[in-house]
Amino acid sequence: QYQGFARRSTNEVLQLYSAHGQQQKLQRSSVVTQLRGSIKKRLKQDLKSLRSFALELSKDFQRQSKTYLYQVLTAVQEIQLQNEALQMFQIKAFDLEQSLQEVTERYEKEKQKRRALHNSLVELRGNIRVHCRIRPLLPFDTAAGHSISQDSSFASILPRAEDSSETVLVKCSRPGHASVNKTYHFERVYSASESQDAVFADVAPLLTSLLDGYNVCIMAYGQTGSGKTYTMLGPQLEENFAFSLEDESELGIIPRAAQEVFRLISEKPPGSYWVEVSVVEVYNNEIFDLLAKDTCGKVSGVKRDVVTTKEGKNNVPLLTHETVENASEFLHLVNKGLQLRVRHPTLVHAHSSRSHLVVTSTITTIISEDNFGTSWEDEQTSQRLNREVSCTFPQKMRDDKSTSSSRASSPAQLEATEKLKQVKTRLQLVDLAGSECVGMSGVTGAALRETSFINRSLSALADVLGAIAEQRSHVPYRNSKLTRLLQDSIGGDAKLLVMLCISPDQKYLTESMQSLGFGTRARQVQRGQVKKKNFPVPSKAK
Ligand code: ADP
Ligand code: MG
Repeated sequence: QYQGFARRSTNEVLQLYSAHGQQQKLQRSSVVTQLRGSIKKRLKQDLKSLRSFALELSKDFQRQSKTYLYQVLTAVQEIQLQNEALQMFQIKAFDLEQSLQEVTERYEKEKQKRRALHNSLVELRGNIRVHCRIRPLLPFDTAAGHSISQDSSFASILPRAEDSSETVLVKCSRPGHASVNKTYHFERVYSASESQDAVFADVAPLLTSLLDGYNVCIMAYGQTGSGKTYTMLGPQLEENFAFSLEDESELGIIPRAAQEVFRLISEKPPGSYWVEVSVVEVYNNEIFDLLAKDTCGKVSGVKRDVVTTKEGKNNVPLLTHETVENASEFLHLVNKGLQLRVRHPTLVHAHSSRSHLVVTSTITTIISEDNFGTSWEDEQTSQRLNREVSCTFPQKMRDDKSTSSSRASSPAQLEATEKLKQVKTRLQLVDLAGSECVGMSGVTGAALRETSFINRSLSALADVLGAIAEQRSHVPYRNSKLTRLLQDSIGGDAKLLVMLCISPDQKYLTESMQSLGFGTRARQVQRGQVKKKNFPVPSKAK
């Protein structure tokens, strides 16, 4: 029973269980179906809304992309326009550049023309050319121990480079005063950075003139320490005051002129030129021949004098003229002379030279009488000179025999060729002693005497220029040996170039202004057209 009961119970349980399971199954499947239905419905709805959203989105996207495309197209068009404009600008810029270049070229040409015209005017009027060189500021300028003049404490000198290098601008400003700008014009102004090359480039044409038959004189004027000797000779050696030949780029006008003269001569027919050199210093108003030899043959400065010949020319009798055959012989003689040059250090500059140095190079040209007769430009002058030269030739040869060393090309050996005539041109290269204020340089005693001689001779030079400028009948050449020695050059028979040397330092303003004033006055001198020693023109001679 129990087992039967248990079995029934189990069956009942099983039935109940299965009934419950079936019921559950039934219930589950209906839920699933219901769920499925609702999901499907929902999905359909979602899909629908998604579709419509996507549609919207794509419409939107299309709209936007259209806008963007339009924008891109506009931008591209703009870029194209800008490109075209850029190209136009480039073309315009190119045109402008070209026209600027043309204008610059034209300006340069005009400038050169103007310079050439100015040069011709200078030649016609016999003006003195004045170039001005402003040296760089150097360590000794800033060294202590110099008194600073009151009125220059806030002044400065500035060369104005942009104005075709022809202007010096001096700015003077003092506390409590309006600043004053003073402008000085010269044929050429060299700024501190300009090299010896640049300076010589403007001097070289004068040397061509020299061989074309003009006398030439180049003199450096300026205050002590302003760069006269540097400009004329180059940097000097400490031990013997000779100038150094080591660095070619540093060479001054004298060594370069020697090289240029011999270069020009080398282009002429051989043997037709010879060059003689004399080196003279004017110290304390005395002339010393720095190439004269004493009885033992040693070189020592010998005092000489200037005499005026019947023809009104100034001559230094017995002056040593050494014949040289090349630039290095020339420079050797100049260096030999330099070692005798008197100097005395001043506070301003320890190596200041206290004398005027005059290196004269005489170039004698031998012309055959045939050429002489046919190719003179001016027949009358030719006849006059013909007479002059015929008269002076034998005299000169006697002089040369006594003072010059004999060379193959010396005039003495040309005596035999009687049909030859000689024409002389003279190149004078002058390194003047420094103009200076006594208070400034701090010299006393013998040096003070030297300074007063220097200043007197420089004022004599200024007086001579003043008298010529004012076309006075009396020109006071006789007031100083310096002016007597240079009379022929200053007086109108030479192309004269004054190289003004200026220190850039404020404390030398008074001296610098004095030099600039001297240069300005020198430019006003009109001496009438410088005469050319009539030379046969090679092409005509043929
Ligand atoms: P000055 O003869 O007028 O008394 P210097 O020619 O002896 O003066 O020049 C004084 C110093 O200045 C020298 O040491 C010289 O070498 C130097 N000097 C002058 N001019 C220049 C320049 N343009 N460049 C460099 N150094 C210079
Ligand atoms: Mg000097």
